[in-house]
Amino acid sequence: MGNAQLQAKIRDLAKEMDAVILAHSYQVPEIQDVADFVGDSLDLAMKAYRTKAQCILFCGVDFMAETAAALNPGKTVLIPDPNSRCPMAGMLPRQAVVEAKKKHPSAATVLYVNTLAEAKAEADILCTSANAVRVVQSLPNKRILFGPDENLAYYVAKRVPDKEIIPIPEHGYCVVHKNLIQKWQLDLLKTEHPKAVLLAHPECNPDIQDSAGFVLSTNGMAEKARELPAKEFIVATEEGLAYRLRKENPGKKFYVIETAVCVQMKKHSLEKAYNALKSKSPVVTVPKGIAEKVRTVTERMLNLTI
Ligand code: SF4
Repeated sequence: MGNAQLQAKIRDLAKEMDAVILAHSYQVPEIQDVADFVGDSLDLAMKAYRTKAQCILFCGVDFMAETAAALNPGKTVLIPDPNSRCPMAGMLPRQAVVEAKKKHPSAATVLYVNTLAEAKAEADILCTSANAVRVVQSLPNKRILFGPDENLAYYVAKRVPDKEIIPIPEHGYCVVHKNLIQKWQLDLLKTEHPKAVLLAHPECNPDIQDSAGFVLSTNGMAEKARELPAKEFIVATEEGLAYRLRKENPGKKFYVIETAVCVQMKKHSLEKAYNALKSKSPVVTVPKGIAEKVRTVTERMLNLTI
């Protein structure tokens, strides 16, 4: 069966089941095209929070689907491939957060949404790359435990210099942004396309952040690309975003590092999405006690953002 046929079947099934399909901007193009909404973590968390649909098919990695499940206790949350797991989220087990809190009792704990539910339950508030600065600024504490991404901690510390940002773990990272996107590759692209504006994600290494025209979440990049009169952009993030940017800005050119691929995000496919809807599985669940805490800290973040 071709993609178009499968997409039509998925759309019919989703309508029949009152399901909404949410997809992260790093998903493969055919998944982005079949989704009701494509966005970054914050955008998708808000959509999951507000949806009236009875079922959510979440095409993203584990921690995103868990957040959707925690926010919607009475609804069914499905994930096409349950093995789509973010390695960065796995770098911060709950126990590490508990120990850091014991060591720094006066600190507030801000966790990036890219953490597993059991760790989130230990946070005071969550953040995404889009609102991390605003979240940290909103807290009265001078000292902030911030995890799990060391590069996002660097980004926040630079913009909130009156607070002490303590990364937990000390060196958490996104394998794509830290290892697969290097400054020399971007410099090369800049030599080839001297007029292009560099948009970088805050999960990128500090040397890239410091040389970028703009450091933004993926949704921030999409907005900036729309707003600016520039016709060419170098985009330092997972390559999947380029599909969305090109679709939304047909008159502009976007250059990405083609090898910056998150294999975890790419585990979903149309076949798996169709099978998940058809069989109503795999269902994403979060234990009740943890889900309640995740809901509280997610709502604190969303209330600052909405
Ligand atoms: S791009 Fe990085 S942070 Fe995002 S899911 Fe993949 S490994 Fe995790």
